Amino acid sequence: MNSRFTNRHVLVTGGARGIGLEIVRRFCEAGAMVSIFDYNSEALDQTASQLRANGHKVNASVVDVSDQQQVTKAVEAAEQIAPIDVLVNNAGICEVTPFLNIEANEWQKTLDINLTGAFYVAQSVCRYMVQRRTGVVLNMSSKNGLDAELGHAHYNASKAGLILLTKTIAIELARFGVRANAVCPGYVRSPINNDVDSDEFVEEFADRYIPAGRVGTVADVAPVFLFLASDEAAYITGQTFVIDGGQLAGQKPWASLLGSVDS
Ligand code: NAD
Repeated sequence: MNSRFTNRHVLVTGGARGIGLEIVRRFCEAGAMVSIFDYNSEALDQTASQLRANGHKVNASVVDVSDQQQVTKAVEAAEQIAPIDVLVNNAGICEVTPFLNIEANEWQKTLDINLTGAFYVAQSVCRYMVQRRTGVVLNMSSKNGLDAELGHAHYNASKAGLILLTKTIAIELARFGVRANAVCPGYVRSPINNDVDSDEFVEEFADRYIPAGRVGTVADVAPVFLFLASDEAAYITGQTFVIDGGQLAGQKPWASLLGSVDS
C-alpha cells in the first residue's frame, strides 16, 4: 500500500473484472477511494467484497453506462460520497462480425456502450470537475481506434471516436483545469477475449504480430492509468497512449528475415 492517491476519489466504469478490475486494484493500493460502475451485478458484488475484505474503500453501483438516466443518478450519488477527482471510462464490449453482416442493432449497441456511454459519464462528471477547476478523464480506447482490425468495424469505429472525444474534452476543458487522455492497449488477455483466447492462439498471435514477442497483460496496462492520473502528468492532455509491445510501430518481419537484421 502506498499513499500516492490518498484522499482521491476515482471512478472506474467496467471495473468489476478484466483490465478495469486491475485499474481499480492499483488505485486502491495507492490509497484512493474507488467507485465502480458496472452492469454485471454478480461480478461487481464479488469484486467489491474482495477489495473491502482487503481493507480498501470501494463503492459499487450497478449502472449500465449506455443509459443516460442511470449514469446521471449514479454520478450524482458518487459525488455526494466525495468529489470525483479521476474518471476512468473503461466499460466496453467487443463483438466480432464481418462488416457486411453487422445488423443495425449490433452496430448501435457497440456504439452506445463504448462511445456514447463514455460521453454520458464524462459529461456528467466533468460538469462537477469544471466547477472545482480540477479533474482527470482517462478513456479506454484501443489499438483498434488507430488501426483497423477486420471483423471489428463497429468496435474500431467506437474506439476511434473515443480518441477524438478525448481530444475535444482536452481542448475545451483545459482552461478549467481538467485533463483528458486516451489509452490504447493492443491484445490483452482478459475475459473480453474468451471466445478466441488460448495459449496456442496468443503464442501464434504474438509470434506473427508483436515485436515484443508476447501479448499484453492487465499489469502492463493499469500503471499507465495511474501515471496519467497523477500530478506528475499535470502537463499532459489530449494525448493517445499506445500499449502494444510495438505492434503499431511497424510490421513485424518474418522470422526468416530476422537473421539478416539481428546483430
Ligand atoms: P471485460 O469484458 O473483461 O471487462 C469489461 C467490463 O465492462 C465488464 O466488467 C463488463 O461488465 C463492463 N461493461 C460492459 N458493458 C457495460 C455497460 N453497458 N455498463 C457498465 N459496464 C459495462 O473486458 P476488458 O478486456 O477488461 O476490457 C476493458 C476495456 O478495455 C474495454 O473498453 C475494451 O474495449 C478495452 N480494451 C481491451 C483490450 C483487450 O484485448 N482485452 C484491448 C484494448 C482495449
